[in-house]
Amino acid sequence: MFGEISERQQQVIDTAPGVLTVDLSALAANYRLLCQRAGAARVAGVVKADAYGLGAMRVAPALHAAGCRDFFVAQFAEALALKPALGADAQLYVLNGLQPGAEPACAEAGIVPVLNSLEQIDNWSRVARTHESGLPALLQFDTGMSRLGLSPEDAVALAAAPERLAGVRVLGVMSHLACADDPLNAQNADQLTAMRHVAQGFPGAALSFANSGGIFLGKDYQGALVRPGIALYGGAPTPSRPNPMQPVVRLDVRVIQTRTVPAGTRIGYGGVHVTRGECRLATLASGYADGLPRSLSDRGAAYAGAIRLPIVGRVSMDSLTIDITALPPGALGLGSLVELIGPHQTLDALARDAGTISYEILTGLGTRFHRVYR
Ligand SMILES: *Cc1c(COP(=O)(O)O)cnc(C)c1O
Repeated sequence: MFGEISERQQQVIDTAPGVLTVDLSALAANYRLLCQRAGAARVAGVVKADAYGLGAMRVAPALHAAGCRDFFVAQFAEALALKPALGADAQLYVLNGLQPGAEPACAEAGIVPVLNSLEQIDNWSRVARTHESGLPALLQFDTGMSRLGLSPEDAVALAAAPERLAGVRVLGVMSHLACADDPLNAQNADQLTAMRHVAQGFPGAALSFANSGGIFLGKDYQGALVRPGIALYGGAPTPSRPNPMQPVVRLDVRVIQTRTVPAGTRIGYGGVHVTRGECRLATLASGYADGLPRSLSDRGAAYAGAIRLPIVGRVSMDSLTIDITALPPGALGLGSLVELIGPHQTLDALARDAGTISYEILTGLGTRFHRVYR
């Protein structure tokens, strides 16, 4: 894969509409930083949705090489696809649990489901009882997000009928924080109290509670196994504070046309942007089909070095337009690259301009960019 690049291949790279660079050494550094911050807890890698769009087949082995042995995906099919890329010492967990009927295949693959309901517990136990040494699982409890996991009533029902877990080796008890990215939100402490209540029903069980933000809420939240996703990929775990993570993603997009227009010129669909003075424009080769949201219309910017080049007019499907008047004439031309995510514009800054979060930007980045793994 890293062998000689033919001249033709190099031409394809040089003419791709954009270049998405994933820095695997920054990813590994982020993993190590999270290990430090997590104290005694083991640090898993959350690699659902193709490792937040960055390519699970590259990201997960890089995390494994950095020492990670626990990998969370959302769906069973994701776990099956990833399994061959990881060593036999790696453990894959399925956050969404299993659809009825998937249990035998999951057991055979040695993949660990997160059981989110009494129904999923019953289904897994039915298969687990036919295995001599049982089958492993994590149990998830809802501590205040109302998304996945056993309700407090389910927990009472389970405590009253522990035989429902026959054959199930409970590797740990988990829950998920709704507001971990906001340390001041009182819901964090409420969920911690609820989690401690759940834990009393499983003395000695390993607890897993914290996502990226949760790790930075401190020791109380860390338990035995933490589950960071976005922080591994360079996103801010606590957006209101300085981001301690290294950037992992860089996105450069190519210029496909430039022009000079007089004052009063309309730009793009709907003609919503009208130039106030003469300006120079560059059209870039990517649009909302590549994951640059339409909400960036007339908001946000690209960068040429440190120079900010505002997005003007509406973002199109395959292109967008920037104002390059701040640059010397001729500085950008057909084939030039400008930065959308990189040293001058963080992932979080682009997401903020788009009115969304880093997660949605990453998972939306399209397949038409040339991808480089470093
Ligand atoms: C996605 C997810 C994570 C990772 O969250 P980040 O905020 O990206 O760190 C952890 N746990 C669960 C249950 C999740 O769904």
